[in-house]
Amino acid sequence: MSSDQSTDQTAAGHRLVVAVDGPSSSGKSTVGAEVARRLGYRFCDTGLLYRAVAWLAVERGIAPDQTSALVPLAGEVQLVVDKRGRLRHVEAAGRDVTVEVRGPAVDRAVSDYSKVPELRAALVPRQRALAADGGIIMAGRDIGTVILPNADVKIYLHASPEERARRRAAQRKLAADGAAASGILEDMRRRDTIDSERETAPLRSAEDAIVVKTDGNTFKQTVAAVIRTIREAEAAGGGNRGR
Ligand code: C5P
Repeated sequence: MSSDQSTDQTAAGHRLVVAVDGPSSSGKSTVGAEVARRLGYRFCDTGLLYRAVAWLAVERGIAPDQTSALVPLAGEVQLVVDKRGRLRHVEAAGRDVTVEVRGPAVDRAVSDYSKVPELRAALVPRQRALAADGGIIMAGRDIGTVILPNADVKIYLHASPEERARRRAAQRKLAADGAAASGILEDMRRRDTIDSERETAPLRSAEDAIVVKTDGNTFKQTVAAVIRTIREAEAAGGGNRGR
């Protein structure tokens, strides 16, 4: 049996919907993707959608306040499912921009676009549709609070800005104490402020989320904590909410 088949079969046994929220570089996508792989769930990083819209808007010279030009861009971006059912790639205007959207230019611009309520509204049904069949871990800022308020399991990954900036600098192979790293910390704080203080769907932990603190944790420890939480919900018969 190929590994593709075994993943599909495992996925069929799990139908929970898991929301994972947290600030940038809190580990949502790396931890979420690894947990999904280990448990046979699909993984969806909703940040890719916002990043792809921001990338396209910058390319076309559309500013965040040009709402009527901005909102239709939501229809030009899509997550692409690979043959293992993973949603790890994003396309904008028919082109794979997964690498481009992770760059510093999008890092700086994305929060100013993602706070536009009309753009968020356009992306809500897209995200809900992806979760409709269950068996998914969906990561973002407002998944447990707005997109999937009835998720079976809600997890909020917490990490301090300093820890997150260190992780991002390491990802980009930058010295942790250099000017580039302090730029990352500054950008991150700015993005945190916009994401947490915006009026529509601000970043916050859902009241019924389990907060996993990751400062000082190894990647493995955080993955293990998240797996434990999901396993407990599975054993309890599908989380404490039902759907
Ligand atoms: O998670 P990531 O850092 O890739 O997300 C990029 C940006 O997209 C965030 O800073 C935030 O402004 C926006 N975002 C959002 N809601 C989500 C996911 C991402 O507003 N569910």
